[in-house]
Amino acid sequence: LSPSDTVEAHRICVCVRKRPLNNKEVTKKEIDVVTIPGNGTLLVHEPKQKVDLTKYLDNQVFHFDYSFDESSTNDLVYRFTAKPLVQTIFDGGMATCFAYGQTGSGKTHTMGGDFSGKSQNSSKGIYALAAQDVFTLLKQRRYSSQDLCPYVTFFEIYNGKVFDLLNKKATLRVLEDEKQQVQVVGLQEMYVSCAEDVIKMIEMGSACRTSGQTSANANSSRSHAILQVILRRRNQLHGKFSLVDLAGNERGTDVSSNDRQTLAETAEINRSLLALKECIRSLGMDSQHIPFRMSKLTQVLRDSFIGENSRTCMIAMVSPGMASCDYTLNTLRYADRAKEL
Ligand code: ADP
Ligand code: MG
Repeated sequence: LSPSDTVEAHRICVCVRKRPLNNKEVTKKEIDVVTIPGNGTLLVHEPKQKVDLTKYLDNQVFHFDYSFDESSTNDLVYRFTAKPLVQTIFDGGMATCFAYGQTGSGKTHTMGGDFSGKSQNSSKGIYALAAQDVFTLLKQRRYSSQDLCPYVTFFEIYNGKVFDLLNKKATLRVLEDEKQQVQVVGLQEMYVSCAEDVIKMIEMGSACRTSGQTSANANSSRSHAILQVILRRRNQLHGKFSLVDLAGNERGTDVSSNDRQTLAETAEINRSLLALKECIRSLGMDSQHIPFRMSKLTQVLRDSFIGENSRTCMIAMVSPGMASCDYTLNTLRYADRAKEL
């Protein structure tokens, strides 16, 4: 199967990416409980105990469009997931790519890449790789004559509120008109003339995402970050690619913390991830009723769930360690439910 086959056949592509054990896990001699034998199959060896207290591993089998093992690079993952969707926005459609999973599983590594070190291609994430391909297509003869102009927005949804990452984290309102068109009022839409422009925006926005907080990582893991590449022709929307680094899903099962702020955040994250699953499913079923009003996340992504020409890809990230097994199974079950019926 080649990457392009998937997008022709399906409106929804659901994949899993497993990251390698990190140094800390290796030092702790954590057992890797996830194996990927090939053909989209993935196994989780869940530690269990019999009534007589003997321990055993229960194998759970999952199937996805693609399952990427720990040796896969951002480049490879991109080629099979988001890359085929770039064409969609040139064809006048809506494309959306989600990174889903527990905190520390590799969502930001996959989407944003790593800009701290050298600028090798392998350190680029899906944001930058998609931007490059958008500009490659824009230069092709069949599109260069079409007057298409590329713009970028980058914003964050935290606790049901929208913040503009390209405008000092300004708080923005979301309005819906009588035709159900959703608008994020005042969202900065920046014109970009090359892929490097987009990368600058990503760096600027990412810094804005994590700065000024006592516990930077903790906070960014509780927000959804959305980068959009928008194509306009004479100011009219032509196509839009939304690339979404979702909030960590682990708090759904984590009840150890019960201060009010955390509980409210947890409820909001749960609501938005549930809404997202329902909206993706209704896209696959060509349903008339899309429950996009269930959360701010699905509301601002409403365009992604309607129209003949919408394509969605979800990449579910999993950590390999035994300590993460419950979260990993949660993530895989969620991804399984998002698959086209
Ligand atoms: P998340 O955004 O899901 O919370 P991160 O992307 O921040 O997780 O990843 C957590 C850590 O693991 C980071 O230090 C990141 O560089 C590393 N990491 C994640 N995925 C990979 C991978 N596929 N290969 C190597 N390192 C990875
Ligand atoms: Mg992250």
